[in-house]
Amino acid sequence: MPPKNYKWTFIINGSKCMACATCVLECQDDAIYVEDYAFYAIDTEKCARCARCYTACPVKAVDRVPFEAAS
Ligand code: SF4
Ligand code: SF4
Repeated sequence: MPPKNYKWTFIINGSKCMACATCVLECQDDAIYVEDYAFYAIDTEKCARCARCYTACPVKAVDRVPFEAAS
């Protein structure tokens, strides 16, 4: 199956993330994982672009970027 052609993708800015896990609790697609034992990251293969993490993050560490720019 070819990869989905989303308009946006979501990425976590590791320098802003304070590892509170709010986004992990919001994500219903199990797409957020711990990167380097330090901060959270999004698996773009699993991410359904629901934006729940983007809305929920208390420190605005989740960025929404055009899909092409992230691939
Ligand atoms: S909600 Fe924001 S600060 Fe908390 S773990 Fe997720 S990206 Fe990091
Ligand atoms: S946009 Fe939705 S599916 Fe993707 S990582 Fe955030 S909460 Fe999970």
